[in-house]
Amino acid sequence: MLLPVTTDPRHRGHPDGCPYQEQRRRLLGEIEDEVRKTREYLGTDTLDPRVMSALGSIPRHEFVPEGSRHLAYENSPLPIGHGQTISQPYIVAVMTHLLEIRPDDAILEIGTGCGYQTAVLAELATSVYSIEYVPELARDAAARLARLGYRNIELRTGDGSLGWPEAAPFDGIIVTAAAQRVPLALVAQLKAGRRMVLPIGRAREEQELSIVVGGQRGPVVARPILPVAFVPLKGG
Ligand code: SAH
Repeated sequence: MLLPVTTDPRHRGHPDGCPYQEQRRRLLGEIEDEVRKTREYLGTDTLDPRVMSALGSIPRHEFVPEGSRHLAYENSPLPIGHGQTISQPYIVAVMTHLLEIRPDDAILEIGTGCGYQTAVLAELATSVYSIEYVPELARDAAARLARLGYRNIELRTGDGSLGWPEAAPFDGIIVTAAAQRVPLALVAQLKAGRRMVLPIGRAREEQELSIVVGGQRGPVVARPILPVAFVPLKGG
């Protein structure tokens, strides 16, 4: 029997009958539970449905090392090599929700890693610019995202704390590694009234997932939302 091949862009790369669909559905339920448990921090007990539907359609198993595929839909971070991780799905969902992405937006991401968060952004925005420090990770993410059919992502290798001046200003900026303080070069590349979402704090200590709003004059004020644990932002 021939398997029907889906043309739905949200199911890129998988023929119908994907064995992971059920696991993804369960993962969404777990994220919803955790959001309810952390409602005091988040100020909401549900996330943007567009964010949830992006997480429900992206094949996370394509983003983890082959030996970890059976863990791809656990609500936890996983090692991806080079001392780096793929973020916990709940954290990806919360950060994306906090960015308040609109369909016409251009978003900058610092820390491509395996490219999972990049794919989530690419489902919601018109264009995504993403910078990764480790060349091997950047190369693998580029190949993976191209194979999955994403055409609205631009990748670059380098120190993301300097941003991407030629493509600025951005409608949103997300940093997926912890900075000790807000990188000012990034604030300068953020449109007034739009958001940067980033963990602030030292490596191996508790950090605060925080929101910075563009267009601030004088000292930059970061609003802390949620305690988190990220790998450190390099360079800067
Ligand atoms: N966004 C990823 C999480 C990546 S982990 C996900 O979807 O799971 C954080 C990544 O940030 C690592 O790959 C690390 O190499 C990268 N990184 C750290 N400092 C950086 C910097 N200054 N510029 C760009 N990338 C950086």
